[in-house]
Amino acid sequence: MTLKGGCACKAIRYELTGDPLIVHACHCRDCQRVTGGAFVINIWIEKKFVEANHTAPKSFRLAGGSGKHHDVFFCDRCGTYLWSRYHIVTSDCLFVRAGTLDDPTAVTPDVHIFTRTKLPWLELPAGVPAFTSLYKIENVWSAESRERLQRNHAAQM
Ligand SMILES: [Zn+2]
Ligand SMILES: [Zn+2]
Repeated sequence: MTLKGGCACKAIRYELTGDPLIVHACHCRDCQRVTGGAFVINIWIEKKFVEANHTAPKSFRLAGGSGKHHDVFFCDRCGTYLWSRYHIVTSDCLFVRAGTLDDPTAVTPDVHIFTRTKLPWLELPAGVPAFTSLYKIENVWSAESRERLQRNHAAQM
């Protein structure tokens, strides 16, 4: 599966050349503020699978609820926020905002996180794991994704 997307002004176009490790719906207050919406849909994927036509989107740094900071990357022409890098995640991965895909129906959240600040009118789908804050990867991820993350981590040592 190759997913394509980009910012609103089309200055930045990207392709995801691998499958997502996992897709998060994050209901934390930072994601609500940054998106202006109820939650963000993040595709967690190794950086090497994110091929962009633009070398360096602008970024700014948020403190992050976890205590570790978080860099948010956006187009400097139109301000669309494309992906983040969370420094709590040790491997070299990005969190690509699924709303920037050309076809956002291509992914569905595998897990909902930080539901403690979920907006009360929003009903979560039955049968999809949901956590009040973070979760343990071994309890949620497929063996294949866990193995990929391990490999990516090892490649950086
Ligand atoms: Zn743009
Ligand atoms: Zn969040």
